[in-house]
Amino acid sequence: MNVKYLYINTIGCQMNVYDSEQMAGHLALLGYQQTAFPEAADLIIVNTCTIREKAEQKAYSFLGRLARLKRKKKSLIIGIGGCVAQQDGKQILKRLPFVDIVFGTRAIHRLPDWIRQIEKKRCQIVDVELTEEVRADEPIIGWQGETQSSRFVTIMRGCDNYCAYCVVPFVRGREISRPPESIIKEIRSLVSHGVREVTLLGQNVNSYGKKEGLCSFAELLARIDGIEDLLRIRFTTSHPKDLDADLIGSYRHLKKLCRHIHLPVQSGSNQVLKQMNRKYSRELYLDKVSKLRDTSSNIAITSDIIVGFPGETDADFDATLNLVKQVQYDGLFAFKYSDRPNAPAVHYPDKVSESRKNERLQILLAMQDAITRKKNQALVGSIQEVLTDGLSKKEISSKLADGRQPLQATGRTFTNKIVNFYLDAQVESSGDIGTGNLLDVRIEKAFAHSLWGKPVLAQPTAKRVKGVDSYAA
Ligand code: SF4
Repeated sequence: MNVKYLYINTIGCQMNVYDSEQMAGHLALLGYQQTAFPEAADLIIVNTCTIREKAEQKAYSFLGRLARLKRKKKSLIIGIGGCVAQQDGKQILKRLPFVDIVFGTRAIHRLPDWIRQIEKKRCQIVDVELTEEVRADEPIIGWQGETQSSRFVTIMRGCDNYCAYCVVPFVRGREISRPPESIIKEIRSLVSHGVREVTLLGQNVNSYGKKEGLCSFAELLARIDGIEDLLRIRFTTSHPKDLDADLIGSYRHLKKLCRHIHLPVQSGSNQVLKQMNRKYSRELYLDKVSKLRDTSSNIAITSDIIVGFPGETDADFDATLNLVKQVQYDGLFAFKYSDRPNAPAVHYPDKVSESRKNERLQILLAMQDAITRKKNQALVGSIQEVLTDGLSKKEISSKLADGRQPLQATGRTFTNKIVNFYLDAQVESSGDIGTGNLLDVRIEKAFAHSLWGKPVLAQPTAKRVKGVDSYAA
């Protein structure tokens, strides 16, 4: 088979990263190898996101630049997939007539057939059918690329929640869960290739399997926890309304389940939550946070907040600030509301001005920044178990005692905090530093978005619960 080159530009969320890996896996069967250079590619795919206007503009601007490449290389195939493809469908061919294929979020497994057809007939194809089927015998896509300690695994697709600001149910379809057997088979395959941590992906993992009568999400986690040589399990995203006692209980007894939860609140005002169609109240959210902390005292909690949702008053925004102060999140993704086509809130009155949204965003970010710094500072002096994720790209100016340039490595704690550290000669020679190893690191400095530490080889005498707790050095 002739080697052909594939370049994928992935924009957007972790779900898109996973989908791009699936595309690369399917296309490898046609002889496509990935390249980092669009100029060298025979096939270019842009995997797009439409969650915010900026992401959509980014996709169209990249696609626009590809016209020049296509003029130079007539055989080049250009495809657009993901949420913008699903949303705009054949309109894209009117706007960008040099595009060969537009394929939606549920058409990935049909991609090889379409590409084969285009190679033979040089036709244009649009496939944006939102099929509802999930095959129990779904093929597991072979390993692509270099070994990584951590990988994403999509356990469900689509969403049934219809939050007023969100386009996901329209561009990713109704919620469908993959059978547990297929998920476990995929994770076993990843582990056999050196993966030590998986992040389970779904728009609302807490409702996993309910529609299809499969096992519950807590049961799925328990089964994954039993996979040998897998060290850590993460998941995202959790809808607060579906976070149940079983899942909260999993933080007590599952050893590999990282003590971190991303629990998007979106607003601290009941009035705004109702307008957003979030189906929980501030009180219910706070109750779940307190149950999580009762179950696992050092669990890290992060969240998403939208500021400037239509109709959000100063009092509503104050309620959000008050909630953030109360919860003391470990991290926060805060965004300004923006109208998205198809989302119901497009038609809501009382839009908040851009300047007011900017002002609120800055106030919220400053508050969270102070909280995160304080939380990170509290870890200074503790020893954290870090899953190494390879060498970091940062240039290092200082030298080791033997005159060599030290290597800087990076990894994450059990509570999902990024830790950077130097590898001195002793650690380097210990063999513990490769990607996907657990290493004890004493935290020496705290920053807003990361920690800095020093690896500790000998176990101190202090009592330590592996993975779950840190101890004072
Ligand atoms: S839960 Fe709401 S915000 Fe999340 S994907 Fe579904 S509709 Fe969008």
